[in-house]
Amino acid sequence: MAVSVEGLASTVKGRVVRPGDADYDESRALYNGMIDKRPAAIAYCSDEADVAAALRYGIEHDLRIAVRGGGHNGGGLGSVDDGLVIDLSQINEITVDPAASMARAGGGVLLKDLLEATHQYGLTIPVGIIGTTGVGGLTLGGGVGHLSRAFGLTIDNLVAATVVLADGSVVQTDAEREPDLFWAIRGGGGNFGVVTSFSFRCHPLTNVLAGPVVYDLDDAADVMRWYDGFIRDAPDELGGWFAYLSIPPGPPFPEELHLRKVCAVVWTQPGEEETPALREARSFGTPLLDGIAPMPFPVWNTAFDGLFPPGEQWYWRGEFFDEMSEGLIEANVEWMPKAPTWKSTMHMYAIDGAASRVGNDETAWAYRGARWAQVVAGIDPDPANAGVVSEWARGYSDATRPFAMPGGYSNFQMAEEPDRVRGMYGANYDRLARVKAQYDPDHVFRVNQNISPAA
Ligand SMILES: Cc1cc2nc3c(=O)[nH]c(=O)nc-3n(C[C@H](O)[C@H](O)[C@H](O)COP(=O)(O)OP(=O)(O)OC[C@H]3O[C@@H](n4cnc5c(N)ncnc54)[C@H](O)[C@@H]3O)c2cc1C
Repeated sequence: MAVSVEGLASTVKGRVVRPGDADYDESRALYNGMIDKRPAAIAYCSDEADVAAALRYGIEHDLRIAVRGGGHNGGGLGSVDDGLVIDLSQINEITVDPAASMARAGGGVLLKDLLEATHQYGLTIPVGIIGTTGVGGLTLGGGVGHLSRAFGLTIDNLVAATVVLADGSVVQTDAEREPDLFWAIRGGGGNFGVVTSFSFRCHPLTNVLAGPVVYDLDDAADVMRWYDGFIRDAPDELGGWFAYLSIPPGPPFPEELHLRKVCAVVWTQPGEEETPALREARSFGTPLLDGIAPMPFPVWNTAFDGLFPPGEQWYWRGEFFDEMSEGLIEANVEWMPKAPTWKSTMHMYAIDGAASRVGNDETAWAYRGARWAQVVAGIDPDPANAGVVSEWARGYSDATRPFAMPGGYSNFQMAEEPDRVRGMYGANYDRLARVKAQYDPDHVFRVNQNISPAA
């Protein structure tokens, strides 16, 4: 039976889309084409009051409520079957205060727009590596990317937020105001409220020297061993993550390498002048390709967007590692070549450096001791390949788990392993559950990597 959402459209100022509307399918689509959810309504909220009104409506009508930022979540946690989607895409204002080196972003802003806005002032914020990802989900989960070693996780640069709570009240939070809430939203996901505004500290950065140094897959074990030692001692400002990938079949890649399975380290160095550390990194081994070039940071941070358009099939899993053990190297060497489609990939993001110099209890992110956040992503445009890409990612991840820390990054998961959620929040889970009981005692926000309110 269809769920009635009568009266919702007159409750919120923004547009409400329902089943049967011409744009319903477009409106309910998520980044991951593997997820096919059919909400009872999608409310395009235009401000905090709208979010509060939609929340009240959803609670009064006993609807399950999902909050959608950029819609990139792997498991489709920005939407819900037969429930209410609070869409934040219209809450997309960005203001930059260059004198204070601060930027404020609405809850529905995309990374690429935030980076473009701060770039105008020679400033940046460390975020994830694909521009179409939402600031909302990425930040609330932690936020790892090219600049994590240099400037920390995205949450390490969050200084304040505006949050619509489950009861519809709007609060400002920072280190002094609602400090428990501020602690919890830095890694605890969307469990505590709807964030309508994020205030970030910015860093001076305009251009980078960046790109992949690509190696033959047969060299993978040697590259991983060398990379492990090198990055441990490398200065913070040099970012570099290890990757398995297939060379994309088009320019700027040389034709003879197209679709070849390879491994790489993907480097990012602030500034255009090569540092001794980057020079040393580039001189290792016998690369098939050195794609490092100077470019504006927003260009680099959107360089993979074209390769990964919305709507393809994605299945991913992620682990944290504190050591590049021989067992971990062996598991990678075994599983990389088995990738079933050319877009399927594995990234190991280095999260040491600045990201590791924050205490495990200072924010909700409990894995400051991890050196890498790994993600294995089985990807293909063809829905017929959903099964094979999923199987590969599961098999790969299972093979690396014996060498992993107990959790995995909440933003690098599907939504199918509820028994792993506690581990994602690690030692901070119990405190998060207490904060949940304080701010969301009736468990309104449960379409996420979910934390139950403490009894
Ligand atoms: C192609 C791709 C590349 C990625 N690269 C990276 C990367 O480099 N680094 C990284 O750390 N992660 C990366 N991610 C993972 C990404 O951080 C998560 O998928 C994240 O959930 C996306 O946030 P979103 O707002 O786009 O997602 P959504 O699906 O809209 O939301 C995800 C979750 O966050 C909640 N949420 C979103 N916005 C808000 C808000 N304003 N207030 C309250 N709750 C909210 C939602 O309720 C939901 O539970 C990538 C994802 C994709 C698909």
